[in-house]
Amino acid sequence: MDATSPQPAGLLKQHLIDPEICIRCGTCEETCPIDAVSHNDDNYVVDAEICNYCMDCIAPCPTGSIDNWRVVKTAYSVDEQFGWDELPEQGEFADDVDTDLMEALEDEIAALLADAHSGTGGKAVAPASAAKPTVNLFNRSKPANAVVQGNFRLTEEDAENDVRHIILDLGDTVFPVLEGQSIGIIAPGTDANGNAHAVRLYSVSSPRDGERPNTNNMALTVKREAEGICSNYLCDLEKGASVQITGPFGATFLMPEDPQANIFMICTGTGSAPFRAFTERRRRAMSTAPGQMDLYFGARRPEELPYFGPLKKVPQELMRQQLVFSRLPDSPKEYVQDRMVTRAEEVSALLADEKTHVYICGLRGMETGVDESFASICRQASLDWEAIKPRMREEGRYHVETY
Ligand code: NAP
Repeated sequence: MDATSPQPAGLLKQHLIDPEICIRCGTCEETCPIDAVSHNDDNYVVDAEICNYCMDCIAPCPTGSIDNWRVVKTAYSVDEQFGWDELPEQGEFADDVDTDLMEALEDEIAALLADAHSGTGGKAVAPASAAKPTVNLFNRSKPANAVVQGNFRLTEEDAENDVRHIILDLGDTVFPVLEGQSIGIIAPGTDANGNAHAVRLYSVSSPRDGERPNTNNMALTVKREAEGICSNYLCDLEKGASVQITGPFGATFLMPEDPQANIFMICTGTGSAPFRAFTERRRRAMSTAPGQMDLYFGARRPEELPYFGPLKKVPQELMRQQLVFSRLPDSPKEYVQDRMVTRAEEVSALLADEKTHVYICGLRGMETGVDESFASICRQASLDWEAIKPRMREEGRYHVETY
């Protein structure tokens, strides 16, 4: 089927972004080859007059918020979508619509999506036992104010990467976050064209009850990027400075509350941020949980691995750790996906267990490598990865946040 095939008369399948699930990372806008995606202070939206269903934006979206469609007679305008807190129901708009045509359009959407998702395993779903997240409380036109409580370098002084642990005090502001959610940072100033800088997104690296239990603060893990407006702004902040924040964002990359659940975490670099939050949550709330926690964490060298010191103190009974290094002077390059293969028996046992939840966070490139390792490990263990992965996705047990 041609993605640009004409619509049945009088009906339109409109591509929409779910504002409740979207984490405002901007990947869709960056990916869209024909500029159909844009954003305002609140939402990322798709212009129905421009979108040609090429589906290029579907697979890169880290949350699946991009996977939404409504069959409509008149397209929702960009301005309408900018004002949404949630997606409108399909039913409300389709009562007088020919059901055969509706079904034909829905089949067409399903086919296009299946194509776009080949390799990703389908739409993201939150774990069944996850707590209900709060989303979109604050935006650019109504941000929350936080005060820097601490800004500590995590990587050694001689490391190439400057990665920071930044603690933001929320004072009296109610800003509920769950482990795995993100917040937006508004860097002050404007770009060369006089436009405000885009809101940049960071995963919260502290658990829901703060850096220490019952403190109204949160931590971020930020790497200074050479040309990064927001990362340099954050990394240079001094204690006491005010920061404008938006969010919280994200409704699927959440941890299971079920203490029986195995949590299998795979990350590179600052992709470790949500896993620090997961680990702390388990330690505080479920320290005797029978479920297994596993961490595969890749960095260039120990000096470059955020939280290397604190991680060494996390007991094996709480979390098994595989710290993997790609640039050790006297060792061959190793990535997380290579280490997984060397521990194939352990990994396949986890994949075969219905209580296992997989989380992948970090560099986009690792997603394919990890997927290939899972497939090869499954082949050796006579498991069918092509069947396991979509089932895990559907059951809210497979989560990817790479960008
Ligand atoms: P990095 O330091 O550049 O790399 C970390 C490790 O990953 C290095 O050992 C690197 O090896 C290795 N690596 C490179 N390509 C790989 C591949 N295809 N498969 C597996 N490993 C690979 O990482 P970083 O700059 O911190 O990147 C972290 C990523 O996490 C960023 O893309 C960021 O956007 C994302 N993220 C950040 C947050 C946050 O809150 N800060 C949250 C979610 C996601 P070599 O370089 O030696 O090849």
